[in-house]
Amino acid sequence: EAQKTPTRLRFYESSISKETTERLLLENDLHDALANQELFLEYQPQLDLRTGQIKSVEALVRWQHPKKGWISPGVFIPIAEESGLIIPIGQWILETACQQVKRWEAAGLPPIKVAVNLSLGQLFQQNSVEIIQNVLEKTQLKPKYLQLEITESMTINIDHMTTILHKLKALGVTIAVDDFGTGYSSLSYLKDFPIDCLKIDRSFVQKIQSNSTDKALVDMILSMAKHLQLKVVAEGIEEIEQLSYLVASQCDTIQGFLLSKPVSPRTFQENYVTLHND
Ligand code: C2E
Ligand code: CA
Ligand code: CA
Ligand code: CA
Repeated sequence: EAQKTPTRLRFYESSISKETTERLLLENDLHDALANQELFLEYQPQLDLRTGQIKSVEALVRWQHPKKGWISPGVFIPIAEESGLIIPIGQWILETACQQVKRWEAAGLPPIKVAVNLSLGQLFQQNSVEIIQNVLEKTQLKPKYLQLEITESMTINIDHMTTILHKLKALGVTIAVDDFGTGYSSLSYLKDFPIDCLKIDRSFVQKIQSNSTDKALVDMILSMAKHLQLKVVAEGIEEIEQLSYLVASQCDTIQGFLLSKPVSPRTFQENYVTLHND
């Protein structure tokens, strides 16, 4: 008995330190990832349910690690946030996404709006609004083609957030609340924040057919959005039944594997032309 505890303790400690080491190694590699051009963006199309057309995409960052291969943003974005690397990486993401919309435009595609995920640290950095303004000026993208995605977890400082969001709105960009409903935050921020769009989290849409609570929550979000005059994007649509339900419920836009997974800019461009010429 007496010897068992220390053994287990040691085992436990060593597994923690392995995790920590792994994380530090990744953080170290992430430092060079930008300069080494290991980061790239994919774009996931969003379908406008009223017109049946693709009018927007979400930009999603990817990391092709030279030794470890593909690393999920779910793993490296938190590391980027904790280490402060999210500042240069986030700026690169924003600039690359805006540039890409201009490239598609130059290639003859109709106007596409791009949604870019913002991290808390990025939004709360000293001159975040100026940085975003500079990116718009540098890339010559019309602000209405940029949507910024924030999450409910960012509502910790409502006053500060309200100020920043109003400044961003004044630039002409639109604001979406990502993963809406998953944040356990009070809904009162909806009164103060100049928000344009709610993105219903995949977890609510998944069991829309079988789970009456999830269905009720989706209905509630759609009805609330209508009253507040907000657009709704339903995320993570994988099945035709989910799509039919959302069409019938007059949801504005859907995004999910049923339509397309996130793809390279070239694939998006090729598919777009095929899709809209049918
Ligand atoms: P998110 O912003 O909620 O992005 C949606 C995630 O759902 C993406 O995962 C996307 O590939 C995935 N997805 C889309 N449709 C479906 C579907 O039908 N079924 C399923 N199972 N999944 C679907 P991804 O690309 O792995 O990104 C994970 C998270 O990492 C994002 O969640 C976001 O929080 C973060 N992230 C990704 N790119 C960026 C970025 O450029 N900047 C920041 N700050 N965070 C990012
Ligand atoms: Ca998002
Ligand atoms: Ca989301
Ligand atoms: Ca998410």
